[in-house]
Amino acid sequence: MINISHLHKQFGDLEVLKGIDLNMEKGKTTVIIGPSGSGKTTLLRCLNLLEIPNQGEISLGNYELSFSPGKKLRPQEISAFRKQTGMVFQGYHLFPHKTALENVMEGQIVVQKKSKQEAREKALDILDKVGLKNRADNYPHQLSGGQQQRVGIARALAMDPEVMLFDEPTSALDPELVGDVLKVMKDLSEEGMTMVVVTHEMRFARDAADQVIFIDDGVIVEKGTPEEVFEHTSHNRTRQFLNKIE
Ligand code: ADP
Repeated sequence: MINISHLHKQFGDLEVLKGIDLNMEKGKTTVIIGPSGSGKTTLLRCLNLLEIPNQGEISLGNYELSFSPGKKLRPQEISAFRKQTGMVFQGYHLFPHKTALENVMEGQIVVQKKSKQEAREKALDILDKVGLKNRADNYPHQLSGGQQQRVGIARALAMDPEVMLFDEPTSALDPELVGDVLKVMKDLSEEGMTMVVVTHEMRFARDAADQVIFIDDGVIVEKGTPEEVFEHTSHNRTRQFLNKIE
């Protein structure tokens, strides 16, 4: 489903991704863990071209792109590639003057050119799935952070992405609101959605991940099942990191 090879990303002189090779299978959940500043978010943003890699290749679904210094991608290429992904950010970035329902309808109408009625039906179905059908007419400021984040997930799902990308989706939330969001993500994972999740929630990684990637200083130090990485790591860097946060 997703193949990444020899991926490099620099910001000026700072090399943030130093040759990433990674495969992710359709229907599986990959959790990316690692210290702050190690390149996790940059890797995720490369997967939907919010950052353009300097070198390497990414194939995702029907598209294969290769990157090299000086090569410019066409805007149509970027947008066709990006449409395959749904992104959930740390902040929710909802439209403040639209209701939850309207937030979930918006992309379907503007991008997918669906009728209002069709968009509304689908939005209500998805809001139901994330446990917020009864909040459809609320505006973002009338919702808790956890509820807003679930609307954010619903909005991304409404675009029928091949892959859902989550960038620390719970790290801005009060602790008591984290569980509901993780539950929605775990349900999605169990339903066979292909997901890539950057998170510090180790319990989620243990419970939901098919594959855990530990990244440090722009390289993948280790990848394996949760059991391999959490219980049987032979890498000092992984052990040090896990000891610090658990
Ligand atoms: P993580 O998600 O693991 O905390 P990031 O991918 O956010 O790490 O960042 C990795 C490094 O890249 C950090 O040193 C960060 O400061 C730097 N970085 C990230 N985005 C940019 C940017 N747009 N411009 C310059 N430096 C950046």
